[in-house]
Amino acid sequence: MIIKVKKGVEIGGNQIQIMAGPCAIENYKYMSQAAKACKKSGAKILRGGAFKPRTAPSSFQGLGEEGLKILKKVGEEENMATITEVVSPRDIDLVYRYTDIFQVGAKNMQNFSLLEELGKVDKPVLLKRGMAATIKELLFAAEYIISNGNPNVILCERGIRTFEQDTRNTLALTTVPLIKEISKLPIIVDPSHSVGTPSLIPAMVKAAIACGADGILIEVHPEPKKALCDGQQALLPKDFAKMMKELRPIAKAIGRKI
Ligand code: PEP
Ligand code: MN
Repeated sequence: MIIKVKKGVEIGGNQIQIMAGPCAIENYKYMSQAAKACKKSGAKILRGGAFKPRTAPSSFQGLGEEGLKILKKVGEEENMATITEVVSPRDIDLVYRYTDIFQVGAKNMQNFSLLEELGKVDKPVLLKRGMAATIKELLFAAEYIISNGNPNVILCERGIRTFEQDTRNTLALTTVPLIKEISKLPIIVDPSHSVGTPSLIPAMVKAAIACGADGILIEVHPEPKKALCDGQQALLPKDFAKMMKELRPIAKAIGRKI
């Protein structure tokens, strides 16, 4: 199934879509720098969170509408589609005005009232796998959106929690070919939240492309050390550029484009 995001941007077709940008929208300068760098390397979709569901309530929670305004402005300036997370049904109308794709985070995969409301919107929804959810539970969560009227659901494998301590989560890449067997929905991979360490990210992205992922959601930040959220896993723009070059021959080998 091919999902149309906006003119020239589709997910699930021959083109592998790269969604890149900082974890959180922090200010115009970082967003613009990140967008320019990501676009130059081939990303067509700009990511950034304005509502951050953080583990601790004292952590940076995002800029809210001010962040959404920055995301939309930079997306328009760089001619990129945008994706941002929505954490509550009451924010759907607000977020709708600023984004092309709604992101549902791992922590909200089974927030069924949020999923039902997203079934009533006419924009695509990226649904992340919960950190302790099975693949069947991910597909049932997608059904909550689809059965309420929105067929445009993109699944995202972002790693699951296991006994392993040396990576942030365990990237379950078998999800990709399995979803291709049992579902028509596009499936993308988030190496940032699964792996958690920049040095390991390019290898896992290569593997994700090789096993058939329809896209990648990845964190890139111009100054990761100063990031207010997830800086420890963000790629520098130069490392992102290097990785993107290395992905092209892999995509070509399986008959796809990046
Ligand atoms: C994110 O994409 O920044 C995020 C919060 O990811 P996850 O929901 O997978 O933890
Ligand atoms: Mn993040």
